[in-house]
Amino acid sequence: MTRPTMPAAVITAPGQVEVQELPEPHPGPGQVRIRVHGTGVCGTDLHLLHGHFGARFPLVPGHEISGWVDEVGPGVLNVKEGDLVALDPNLWCGQCHYCQRGLFQHCEHHEALGVTLPGGFARYTVCPATNVYPAQGLTADQASFAEPLGCVAWGMKRLRPPPGASALLFGAGAIGQLLMQGLLASGCARVTVVDPVQDRLDLARELGASEVLQPHADLKTELLDRHPYGFDVTAEATGVPAVVQGLPELTAVGGQVLVFGVAPEEAQVSLSPYLLFQRDLSVLGSFALNQTVPLALDWLRAGRVKVEPLITHRLPLARVGEALNMKAHPGLAGAQKVLMTPGEETAPPPL
Ligand SMILES: [Zn+2]
Ligand SMILES: [Zn+2]
Repeated sequence: MTRPTMPAAVITAPGQVEVQELPEPHPGPGQVRIRVHGTGVCGTDLHLLHGHFGARFPLVPGHEISGWVDEVGPGVLNVKEGDLVALDPNLWCGQCHYCQRGLFQHCEHHEALGVTLPGGFARYTVCPATNVYPAQGLTADQASFAEPLGCVAWGMKRLRPPPGASALLFGAGAIGQLLMQGLLASGCARVTVVDPVQDRLDLARELGASEVLQPHADLKTELLDRHPYGFDVTAEATGVPAVVQGLPELTAVGGQVLVFGVAPEEAQVSLSPYLLFQRDLSVLGSFALNQTVPLALDWLRAGRVKVEPLITHRLPLARVGEALNMKAHPGLAGAQKVLMTPGEETAPPPL
């Protein structure tokens, strides 16, 4: 008897990705198997493709996963076969210095689906039951945003914007659109959004931005003309060091600067310590997500964060190369969120 197999997109070496038939995985004790509905393509997948982030090959990427539980191992308490679930892809040990202080995303024995373990660019994936969250009341598409929106939720728990705050956000890609909505759902009254791409700005408007602008040489002057006291919160979802460097000057006295984008590891910026001191500024970083999937799902259920308009492409596994290329050149493809949809390629197997 041959073992059943499933299609999966596999990075085999830096820059090389192909669809392979892999043995179907099964859950061990405390684990569940997910029949993947959709997995969002993220900048992290692109980094992994190029061998960054300590990637070990072969690797099935994809960490923004939703799907249906279709097999449960012994000892699983929170879900049953057939449940729609959202995943937190980060596995933590619960025993190390950081885990014992509740900073699970900094676990010293960190593993993650789609990063160090097989992820969601496959028909099935297996993970601990601790990492799945029932997603009743949501669509499977919505549930696939649990991870990136969970990162936004962690950022908001770090930031805790004051009620009625004015915010300035650079970057209106998919994560920027989520961050903007997260700011509004967390008490900001107005968000000004800056991005070079007009389509993205139009979408930001639709999703609640109070003001949108394209960057230009005198952008700082224009922003300070319109907002002479600066913004209570300034944030970026660009990972561009020069953008981070410009934030403190646009931040109001007593305000907060949120560094949310992923800048290159070696990048440096210059900040005026006097400005931080004299204006009573707080500069905050926010890394990944930390038990914030429930908040993300609540925002989605309440309609406070809308994600459907962000899905610009749905691609089968066979087009994984194209999907990653869109992530590399989002401007060309007009891509916001690209979903790999292994669940749409085959009729669901009988439970
Ligand atoms: Zn991601
Ligand atoms: Zn740990």
